[in-house]
Amino acid sequence: MGEEVDGNTVLAQVLKAQGIEFVFGIIGYPVIELSMALQMADIHYIGMRNEQAACYAAQAIGYLTGTPGAVLCVSGPGLLHTFGGMANAQINCWPVLVIGGSAPQDHEGIGGFQECNQVELARPYSKYSARPPSISLIPLHVEKAVRLAKNGRPGAAYLDFPANILSGRVDSNHIPKQYGPSAIPTIYPDPKKIEDAVKILTTAKRPLVIIGKGAAYARAEKEVNELIGLTNLPFLATPMGKGVVSDTSDKCIQPARSLALQNADVILLLGARLNWILHFGRPNRFSPDVKVIQIDISAEELHNSVQSEVAIQSDLKPAVAELVTRLKQEQFVFSSSDEWWNSLRKKSEDNRRTVEAMANDVQTPLNYYAVFKSTYENLPENCIIVSEGANTMDIGRSMLLNKLPRHRLDAGTFGTMGVGLGFAIAAALYCRHYDPKKRVICVEGDSAFGFSGMEIETMVRYKLPIIVIIVNNSGIYTGMEPEVFKDIQESGDVTKVTPPGCLSSCTRYDNMMALFGKSGHFVQTVPELQTAIKQALQNQNEPTIINVIINPTADRKPQSFNWLTESKL
Ligand code: ADP
Ligand code: MG
Repeated sequence: MGEEVDGNTVLAQVLKAQGIEFVFGIIGYPVIELSMALQMADIHYIGMRNEQAACYAAQAIGYLTGTPGAVLCVSGPGLLHTFGGMANAQINCWPVLVIGGSAPQDHEGIGGFQECNQVELARPYSKYSARPPSISLIPLHVEKAVRLAKNGRPGAAYLDFPANILSGRVDSNHIPKQYGPSAIPTIYPDPKKIEDAVKILTTAKRPLVIIGKGAAYARAEKEVNELIGLTNLPFLATPMGKGVVSDTSDKCIQPARSLALQNADVILLLGARLNWILHFGRPNRFSPDVKVIQIDISAEELHNSVQSEVAIQSDLKPAVAELVTRLKQEQFVFSSSDEWWNSLRKKSEDNRRTVEAMANDVQTPLNYYAVFKSTYENLPENCIIVSEGANTMDIGRSMLLNKLPRHRLDAGTFGTMGVGLGFAIAAALYCRHYDPKKRVICVEGDSAFGFSGMEIETMVRYKLPIIVIIVNNSGIYTGMEPEVFKDIQESGDVTKVTPPGCLSSCTRYDNMMALFGKSGHFVQTVPELQTAIKQALQNQNEPTIINVIINPTADRKPQSFNWLTESKL
């Protein structure tokens, strides 16, 4: 006979053995003891204010480190709250592990407390959803859940733990030992396909490289930088592919994005899907004759939406390394004086000038461009930028440049609002443990901030020096002029309705810091914004809220295409 151990201890120890370092959650019956067991196992436990934000935080850890963060939640409503997060992780292809407590098995079917069919409910949002049937089978299921979350195309996994399994006890001799993380197999490209890719690339007239967040997740930055440096090919990055190669590279033609997509004859697609973000790869946003060379870890992704000319299932690191080797042998360099490069450069310059003019207009109430220009100029190099909100995220993406990979976290493929504060908390913890000098800036629309604003308390409690900049236009998309809002509020006429997108005018989100005996920044001008950011950067031990009031009707510069509506299939 060995010593007795309980399910909580077994679970905590095997999570640690699997490399899980961070668990985000909210405790309650039946996972209270588990949260303590996690701390005993030397895992960082972070208590959040909503399970959805906890799940956003855990998946951001997964994206930043390659090992999933975990979520700890109670049964029923606790787990249901995580589904927004699980769906977001699954659709973003980010690893996350959700651990839910559930009703004791002998209460099932007779109205147990918070009883619901958790394993089935989690299944559509995950790659693996299971309930370990006994304490001694916990290690096997945890290993499988972590392996499935990480291997192939990453995603979410769910494990369900009835109260009786967590608190039950077994002889420790019945617990299998040696449950370390299984190595992720590297998938290498078919050499024949690499040859096909080289042939097409070296004969392209208007080539374009598109870098997606798959390249960031694959940690293929060294290889992709070599490729771009060697070949002189123009590139575009998707929102979170930004920074794999620096946005400041002279090969980055982001300001000429529409022109580049429409006219490229060959596209090398590195870890990006031809979904709505890339207008499905179809006319009229892409040329009908474009040849796509697609590299993706997921075989199921190949040929999606349009037939690829060359479809390569591979991890990006070895595939791009192989391309570099072969293109070197061919001595392939795409000429800078080529007509294609000239047209891209000209368009980029024109667009830069338009944006510059808008950014230099600093009259109040401010516009987005002025706010972002000044924000960017005052941020430290290489901070991690979290961003969400409609205009805030879209305009911010082009103005807040990234020089390093995995330094931008945003609403992602699912377009999820409410992710920002959870992501920022994860990013700040990541910095604290792995990159202590780095800062995290969270640029939020006022509506986006509202989804998980109470996580400010989490930031204060864990002393996370996140700079939260709220770009406050008093609404979703657009808000109401303060006088109009005041009229409606004060009219006493309840039939006067507020438009659905409007929020209270000029809300003092900065005053949330008063809840903790501190003060935030209320900003209306560019100099005030500069001062606020400088002060925030001095602050190493607590979050800062900078509430920037902008014009409620401020908008994007005119676009050549309307967002989703002009992608006709
Ligand atoms: P973006 O939003 O930047 O366009 P997506 O999330 O649509 O990016 O696409 C990322 C792609 O990268 C997914 O299809 C995913 O399968 C792929 N991917 C993830 N990890 C790797 C890897 N290590 N090697 C190759 N492809 C990867
Ligand atoms: Mg807004």
